[in-house]
Amino acid sequence: MSKPGQERRLGTRVVRSARALPPGEGTPVAPPLVQSVAFDYRSAADQDAVFGNERPGYVYGRYGTPTTAALELALADLDGAEAAVCFTSGMAAIAAFVDACAVATGGRVVAQEDSYGQTRALFERWVRERGAKIDFVDATDHAKVERALRQAPTSLLYVEAIANPLLRITDVAALAKLAHATGATLVVDATFATPLLVQPIALGADVVIHSLTKYINGHGDVMGGSVAGKADVAKAMRDRTILDGGYMPPHEAWLCIRGMRTLEVRMARHWANASRVATFLGSHPKISLVRFPGLPSHPQHELAKRQFGGRFGGVVTFDLKAGTQEAAFRFLDSLQLAASATTLGDLWTEVLYPAISSHRRVAPEERKRLGISDGTLRLSVGIEDPDDVIGDLENALSRV
Ligand code: PLP
Repeated sequence: MSKPGQERRLGTRVVRSARALPPGEGTPVAPPLVQSVAFDYRSAADQDAVFGNERPGYVYGRYGTPTTAALELALADLDGAEAAVCFTSGMAAIAAFVDACAVATGGRVVAQEDSYGQTRALFERWVRERGAKIDFVDATDHAKVERALRQAPTSLLYVEAIANPLLRITDVAALAKLAHATGATLVVDATFATPLLVQPIALGADVVIHSLTKYINGHGDVMGGSVAGKADVAKAMRDRTILDGGYMPPHEAWLCIRGMRTLEVRMARHWANASRVATFLGSHPKISLVRFPGLPSHPQHELAKRQFGGRFGGVVTFDLKAGTQEAAFRFLDSLQLAASATTLGDLWTEVLYPAISSHRRVAPEERKRLGISDGTLRLSVGIEDPDDVIGDLENALSRV
């Protein structure tokens, strides 16, 4: 006598077989990758309760899936937040949060002027196309920040903990006080710092954003972003992933979890290597300026020491004395080890030329005013042997 279901025909069995893993003792030490887009309910009442948020559960890919939810729980823990929501990229996370928190409801934003070029370009586009009220400010000058916040009612103060690419450090605790005194929310993009250098929420910020594409994944094979904060922020972000569709898919989340496990050892090596590279560049005759928060010459070195617990990240930004695009191209074309690539935070060393990439959409006069010249290069120092990294830079500099 066949069991129920076994009487089904081959054409059905071949479609329906192997939907669940056979039960057995032993807990997997790596988290399961649940690729399923949809989740089956034998009871419509149960399904209704999950759709209605009365019970936890999964219904459909954009609403949340178990593997991405595992990453979200981990990030909420690392960021010291009530909850986190993951997106398909850092930009998707930034766009979703800033729109939901301010722009969509006509709220004003005061944003750091030297933030990641495409964040700034997005905000400028919203000003042009949507009439968004976004003003830019030097976030290291607290008098200017306070003036900007008091100029008009403000919903959101937007800053980066270590700004891309000039590596200015923002004082999260001080900015949180200024923002809260005027009723604004403080959001900190902590992509360069990671939760290991700073936990902005513990310092008073309301929300933390990461591009997971960078250090948190760290292996150059995943794009992702996260927004972490109070439960109501997470609820608003989940609404965004459901309707706007920017939810991080499970396979990306699974890879990101794997990458994240080594964040602390990677960051320690990035920082040690970056310190050596910054010292090397600082005494090189073809370099006019080196920016690295670990150097005493960095304008916010003391703040960086205090805020990041004596660690300084793995990015070094420097200016070629020649100061021309021709010299920068010659330098990039002469690199043999470092990748000339538009990213950072990977295991391997990467150099970016902001004027042609991340800050291409920022007007040349504004780039210049901020301090991003035609000779400015951003170096994400990898975890290779530092002597090889320095040797590569030395060789490329000799061709400039
Ligand atoms: N925030 C910072 C500080 C970044 O450097 C970047 C990208 O370089 C982003 C956000 C955007 O992240 P993604 O490239 O994952 O969209």
